[in-house]
Amino acid sequence: MNATFNGSFAALSRQMSAVWTLKALGLGAVGLTLSVEVLGWFFRRFGSKGFLKEVIFFPTEFACVEHVFEPTLQCLCPLPHGLETSLARLLRHVLSAKSTLDICVFAFSNMDLSRAVLALHSRGLVIRILIDKDYGCITGSQIGPLRRAGIRVRYDSGAVHMHHKFALVDGRRLVTGSLNWTLQAVQKNKENVMVTEEPRLVTPFVQEFQRLWDANDPEGCGRAAPPPQQGTERQGTERQGTERQGTERQGTERQGT
Ligand SMILES: [Zn+2]
Repeated sequence: MNATFNGSFAALSRQMSAVWTLKALGLGAVGLTLSVEVLGWFFRRFGSKGFLKEVIFFPTEFACVEHVFEPTLQCLCPLPHGLETSLARLLRHVLSAKSTLDICVFAFSNMDLSRAVLALHSRGLVIRILIDKDYGCITGSQIGPLRRAGIRVRYDSGAVHMHHKFALVDGRRLVTGSLNWTLQAVQKNKENVMVTEEPRLVTPFVQEFQRLWDANDPEGCGRAAPPPQQGTERQGTERQGTERQGTERQGTERQGT
């Protein structure tokens, strides 16, 4: 009787042990699956090195981008709607700014990009635009309307063209490539834009923007100046909201810009 009980107890123990082993294996499998899912999401979101990377090619597809600005609006224009075109993707990167936007482009005449910058300005973001002195005021340039809205603009006064085309979103997301912020470049040209949050790539652009911004301080006579202290820059010294008659150069936007 005792031997029978001991045998049954041993069998029950083995059975329980097997059940717990199976449960542990099951939990392990679930944990492993979840880990793989989480890692997969992380790499999809941030790329293999953990940072956002994206490449966008232009010309953009022929479509409306109203949904980027007003997702709930039923736009009635005749263009195709709801497409995530190259321009829509670029606009989303610009509009993702939460605190600052620094723009350093050779020419700026694209009205959709201008609308995005004005929208950010109306939200109270700190925006700085650095532009080539010759191409900043071509016909159709958006620099005038942006300045009149109160956005700070500086003109690169160097002897050669300021030919950069990059923007820094919140000082941590770099948007750079061959694309000028013009209608021609966005809709007609073959252009490339790379977006990255890789600090080793972003930091030199942040430093270069600040260097050029300081070097073109109208009060610094072209000399590199220390970073401006908040609230010390005077109205009008950066042609901010005080556009003078005759200072804008007239011209036509040339092919290729
Ligand atoms: Zn539309």
